[in-house]
Amino acid sequence: MKAAVLTSPENISRRPLRIEQVSQPSGKTGQVVLRVRACGVCRTDLHIVEGELPLLREKLIPGHQIVGEIVEGATTELPKGTRVGVSWIGGIDGTCWYCRHGLENLCDSATFTGYTVNGGYAEYALARTDFVFPLPQALDDLHAAPLLCAGIIGFRSLRVAGVEQGERVGLFGFGASAHLAIAVLRSWQCEVYVSTRGASHRRLAESLSASWVGDETEKPPVQLDRAVTFAPSGDVVVAALGSLRKGGVVAINAIHLDRIPEFDYDRLLWGERQIRSVANMTRSDARDFLQIASEIGLRPKVTTFPLDQANEALAAIEADAIDGAAVIVP
Ligand SMILES: [Zn+2]
Ligand SMILES: [Zn+2]
Repeated sequence: MKAAVLTSPENISRRPLRIEQVSQPSGKTGQVVLRVRACGVCRTDLHIVEGELPLLREKLIPGHQIVGEIVEGATTELPKGTRVGVSWIGGIDGTCWYCRHGLENLCDSATFTGYTVNGGYAEYALARTDFVFPLPQALDDLHAAPLLCAGIIGFRSLRVAGVEQGERVGLFGFGASAHLAIAVLRSWQCEVYVSTRGASHRRLAESLSASWVGDETEKPPVQLDRAVTFAPSGDVVVAALGSLRKGGVVAINAIHLDRIPEFDYDRLLWGERQIRSVANMTRSDARDFLQIASEIGLRPKVTTFPLDQANEALAAIEADAIDGAAVIVP
């Protein structure tokens, strides 16, 4: 099969992914083989191919927002041809302290799709049967793919931030994840304040009913109950913190940050403001979010790339050149 393979991380401008013929995966008990119909592109993939997250395998096929149909390993619940989604969390041990306490997103020995195991930048992919999610009919392949990490983890960020109905919520950065989170927030009657770089991202936020839109350094005109940051930048986290009311929460939706700059505790954190990080996702986040997405008719804005252009798709993410989400179609 054809796949985009990483052997040595480099700046994306040097095209680190090579398009190669590799052998098609075959499944063991408890696994399914999927024919990949679409695979979303995530900023984490960029961190992997550029080496900000260390490469853990000799050869890696990235991609962790896989829409595929089951071609091998079918079960009674998941017959052959079933269309399923695979996300970042590819499996857990089920036995560690975190798993036993309902915190499977923090499992000590989790596997991560497209990172510790091969992912979906390929014609076929392997997944654990208990970590695939049947997809609602209402969601077609292209529009389902970005929901599988950007969507689910964006949704988890809202949970981590503790968002309640009708609150004032800030979104700092407006890429794939934020443009899905805003739809969920609007369905909860929240007022949404968006600070982001890029005129086209700001226009997209306006068209999706943000109450206010400003540039990345601009402070929303009201104090926020909650904020979620999406940019891999500690400056943005501090800006978000400076926009909170007392007792407010910032959730950081980023697997990697450049650094956190020094900031004034008395003014920015005192008053029981909180900074929380968002790590991975649980299967119930996935199921709950896919249910909501299908109920509210969530349709991401999508730009497609053929598999041969996997490097170009990642370069477009790096340059913030895409409104909404990028999806690879093998
Ligand atoms: Zn565990
Ligand atoms: Zn992701």
